[in-house]
Amino acid sequence: MAEGAERTIAQTLAQSQSAGLERLDAQLLLLHALGRQPHDRAWLIAHDGDKVSLSVSKSIEMLSKRRIQGEPLAYLTGHKEFFGMDLEVDARVLVPRPDTESLVEWALDVLSGMAWANVIDLGTGSGAIALAIKKHHPEFRVQGVDRSADALAVAAANAERLQLDILFRESFWLSGLTEKFDLVASNPPYIADNDSHLAALAHEPKQALTSGVDGLDDIRAIVAQSPDYLQPGGWLLLEHGYDQAAAVRQLLAQSSFLQVQSRKDLAGVERCSGGQWIPTPQCV
Ligand code: GLN
Repeated sequence: MAEGAERTIAQTLAQSQSAGLERLDAQLLLLHALGRQPHDRAWLIAHDGDKVSLSVSKSIEMLSKRRIQGEPLAYLTGHKEFFGMDLEVDARVLVPRPDTESLVEWALDVLSGMAWANVIDLGTGSGAIALAIKKHHPEFRVQGVDRSADALAVAAANAERLQLDILFRESFWLSGLTEKFDLVASNPPYIADNDSHLAALAHEPKQALTSGVDGLDDIRAIVAQSPDYLQPGGWLLLEHGYDQAAAVRQLLAQSSFLQVQSRKDLAGVERCSGGQWIPTPQCV
């Protein structure tokens, strides 16, 4: 095909795929370049003979190249769907994963039946967990903390766009907070510093991914802090790596959490573990 000639939608998609893109990624990037919604894939098929402007062709070529080099689709489109919400994301935050929806479901189970609750999401990133909880319980107090001011800016923008009233603030886990919570939820960094999976995650913020030689440094810190910040009967729920469930249950049990248990993600992997904090009466 002549250089500079306009391509059709079908030709553009074929070109992206022959460059190495998955069909779905090619469709989603083209929809983004055309200013259309991700759910408009049927529109692409119905209009496969329509011409694509040269500027859209150029931008799709650039986006395809970046995708092939491993940039997450969500950073290229600026959007990621999470728990039925459209979140705006960029390289300042980890891309929200469907795995984390299991943690949200567990959090909603714990909160169901409560008339009011004080909830905090530690290492909130894009705000995904806090936003999903607030959306389902607008009357609850929901906060999100992160060590990264950049991440908090992304979370606050999402909350504003979705009109969810959440308090976001900078903090190292629960340090310095002066209140007690009915639920502490977190998807902390949990990948070992030298894990080979990190190569595939090179575009995402490292501080949101890695946590010491066994990946458990941050989970240990959160488990150690939480008893001082939980109401009697409050729950701590943590996401962790595919092979860390037993280790996290052990940490929770060692810190005297009760009802220690794990939940599976959609792939059937034990992905979250948690426990309930019931202080033992002090002997006098
Ligand atoms: N689940 C992510 C991954 O392995 C990592 C998320 C995290 O470290 N919290 O791709």
